[in-house]
Amino acid sequence: MGRWNTTDADDDSVVCIACGDTVSRSAAREYDKYGDRWNRDGKRFEYLCKPCDKERCNHSRDGLESLLVEAEAGKTDEKTFLRNFAELVEEDAGAESRP
Ligand SMILES: [Zn+2]
Repeated sequence: MGRWNTTDADDDSVVCIACGDTVSRSAAREYDKYGDRWNRDGKRFEYLCKPCDKERCNHSRDGLESLLVEAEAGKTDEKTFLRNFAELVEEDAGAESRP
């Protein structure tokens, strides 16, 4: 029913964990902060939009992972998580730019 051509696919949109943008799932990079630590069953993946994914590659991956854990990804509701995450990223960036 023309579904294949729609760009307004709510079912398939995900929120980028880095910038909070909503992107289509097919355009997002799946980011699994815990690797295979948990079963895939009921697992919640994080997503990054392409620009953020690219940016992530320029930063230390370990840093992002610890930030995600610190921001309690998957443990809080999305709004709280995104706020925590944004704060942590800001702190991190501030720390890096200081001598
Ligand atoms: Zn993003």
